[in-house]
Amino acid sequence: MLVERLRERIPADRLQLDPAVTASYAHDEAEWAPHGTPLLMVRPRTAEEIQEVVRACIEHGVPVVPRGAGTGLSGGANAVNGCVILSTEAMTAITEIDPLERLAVVQPGVVNDQLRSACAEQGLWYPPDPASAPWSTIGGNVATNAGGLCCVKYGVTADYVLGLQVVTGTGELVRLGRRTAKGVAGYDLARLLVGSEGTLGVITEVTLRVHPQRPPERTVAGYFSSIVDAGRAVTAVGAAGIVPSALELVDRHCLEAVDQWKKMDLAVEAEVILLARCDVPGAAGDDEADAIRDCFEQAGATWAARSTDEDEADALFAARRLAYPALERLGPVLTEDVCVPKAAVPEMLARIEAIGQRHDTLIANIAHAGDGNLHPLLITPRGDDAARVRAQRAFEEIMVEAIALGGTVTGEHGIGLLKMDGLVQELPAAVLDLHRAVKAALDPHGILNPGKVIAARADGSTPGPADRG
Ligand SMILES: Cc1cc2nc3c(=O)[nH]c(=O)nc-3n(C[C@H](O)[C@H](O)[C@H](O)COP(=O)(O)OP(=O)(O)OC[C@H]3O[C@@H](n4cnc5c(N)ncnc54)[C@H](O)[C@@H]3O)c2cc1C
Repeated sequence: MLVERLRERIPADRLQLDPAVTASYAHDEAEWAPHGTPLLMVRPRTAEEIQEVVRACIEHGVPVVPRGAGTGLSGGANAVNGCVILSTEAMTAITEIDPLERLAVVQPGVVNDQLRSACAEQGLWYPPDPASAPWSTIGGNVATNAGGLCCVKYGVTADYVLGLQVVTGTGELVRLGRRTAKGVAGYDLARLLVGSEGTLGVITEVTLRVHPQRPPERTVAGYFSSIVDAGRAVTAVGAAGIVPSALELVDRHCLEAVDQWKKMDLAVEAEVILLARCDVPGAAGDDEADAIRDCFEQAGATWAARSTDEDEADALFAARRLAYPALERLGPVLTEDVCVPKAAVPEMLARIEAIGQRHDTLIANIAHAGDGNLHPLLITPRGDDAARVRAQRAFEEIMVEAIALGGTVTGEHGIGLLKMDGLVQELPAAVLDLHRAVKAALDPHGILNPGKVIAARADGSTPGPADRG
């Protein structure tokens, strides 16, 4: 039996069989995504222990669901019935920070903010900053290719991954990528693993690029009476050739929910707030901040100014980060994650508003607006099944509209379970088959996070030579 096999191969204290405990590891933060019941949970401490778990699961044909902090918003870490949840929460070592090579080597369970603090102690900076940075893990960030607030200027997690150590679906422990500044030996398999949501391998160590610390940021806030005006301001900033270090959108629903919860005394005098930051030093930074303010005003801001009180500005950014958990207190939240070209942001926001009205669904909005990455949050009263059906339709229509505007169904949260239909809408059949071929090559036993991201072909077949005629 699997449990006996695991007890022979890894220390007993790594195993957790108590259903009351394993149940709390059975799902992520995507309240709407279904989940099954795990057989057990394992908390390995080393790559070799993860390898033993994967090998045992191959022998017994048991699915493995890798899990970081469970902050995912697509159901990617959700249990399938009878699976082993492989939690990296005990793998929290920051093995190395090298200021000369400007890299860090970490175990997958290191929390994003912990890495950022450790880098700061050495005058370094790890840019990817998902709003979940206080909780989410580097392993989870890599597996979802997480974005964040400063990604508008500094890119997403993939831009910082140099190398990975991974246990593949055949139970091999391999190193992918490199430590050097450059390197093109072979296919970029490390990049392939980034964003693979636990379906192609279990990440056991990550080598990340880091930057020197940057100058302090200035904040510009703009208040808008309509979300479409705020969208126009986002397009105007891009059209002016400005690359802010953050450009976030938060609407009144979110600010009110955070205020009710945290009593932060946020002045909610606008329907929508845009928060921009710039980290260009000196007079050029002042000019950039002024130029952003001008863009806000020209797009119809009712008020726009550079912040003179950085504590107040930090409070608004903190509110942005707390928006999702604050809204969850109002009722189940179905989180969208579409991303559209910058020029299409106002039109997409207008279509989202219209969809909410058409389906009588309350939609709050937060967005990494500068990236065109919008998070309409569909809120339904608890226990109202009809409202749930309407919200689901609205969710699907938002994906359709994003694709129609040249966008994608997910900018950063991943496909998981919630967006599997969206993936099929977005990608042509031939590209879906490439996904299936990659999955079959790296996970031939089909045990790594099965049923997520890419579904089997309708007839159950796998792409192979016959498909090439
Ligand atoms: C309040 C809040 C704010 C958020 N803000 C952002 C944001 O700004 N940007 C953003 O991109 N996301 C955001 N998210 C979503 C989420 O935090 C990210 O997707 C994050 O990267 C998930 O990390 P995690 O450690 O919680 O991973 P989990 O949720 O545990 O897992 C996520 C996926 O990664 C896989 N996985 C985890 N660890 C490994 C591993 N070691 N090897 C292989 N696969 C693995 C899992 O199987 C799953 O498919 C937010 C979520 C919340 C709740």
